[in-house]
Amino acid sequence: MDDLQLLRYSRHILLPELGIEAQEAFSAARALVIGAGGLGAPVAQFLVAAGIGTVTLCDPDAVDLTNLQRQILYSTADVGMPKVAAAKARLAAINREIRVEAIEVRVGADQLAPLVANADVVLDCCDNFTTRHAVNRACVAARKPLVSGAAIRFDGQIAVFDPRDPTSPCYHCLFGEGDDLEEMRCAIMGVFAPVVGIIGATQAAEALKLIAGVGESLAGRLLLLDALAMHWREVRIPRDPLCVVCKES
Ligand SMILES: [Zn+2]
Repeated sequence: MDDLQLLRYSRHILLPELGIEAQEAFSAARALVIGAGGLGAPVAQFLVAAGIGTVTLCDPDAVDLTNLQRQILYSTADVGMPKVAAAKARLAAINREIRVEAIEVRVGADQLAPLVANADVVLDCCDNFTTRHAVNRACVAARKPLVSGAAIRFDGQIAVFDPRDPTSPCYHCLFGEGDDLEEMRCAIMGVFAPVVGIIGATQAAEALKLIAGVGESLAGRLLLLDALAMHWREVRIPRDPLCVVCKES
């Protein structure tokens, strides 16, 4: 690291749990972020500001006026632009040393396999169960840690699934595809703006901890936030021995 990098990251380097070693691990790391909306915005901002070397952002959508209430990466002038292009410009202004790869498609299994294989950590910030299950499958197959977040109304949730640990559950152990959970979308249900920030920042924290190898990750635990009561609840997630996704791994 040169003098400017030592200065830029000095508040991390000062932390005995991190230091120069973790900061160098951040700069060598590759994070894959699925979704550049309410969760993806704070996730990408924190990862880029914190010095993660390569951040790959996938999102097929354009910035809409209704996004601006909570998707803090975007400004009024970005309305109509592809989210990943607007995000890339904004993230470059935060930290030019970071490589940001913008992928403007709704990623399916075919695209996910090489992207996940190439990543050190995957952050699921998307808004639909089909993509969530595809991301989980790719993470289990490639044995890559998955930091999964969701937010709707005043509620948020976050969990880590780490297939490197044979006792860790996967996303499918928690939410089976046959459960027929009704998909709740912000466009219909609404979402309290800071909830996506709280959950997204927590996802970024878990990803940085996983890369630095410090602390205790949320693997096997689901945190549920009720922002109206401002109350967090923690639920242990058991591994499902019959889970069709992770039982072979
Ligand atoms: Zn499973």
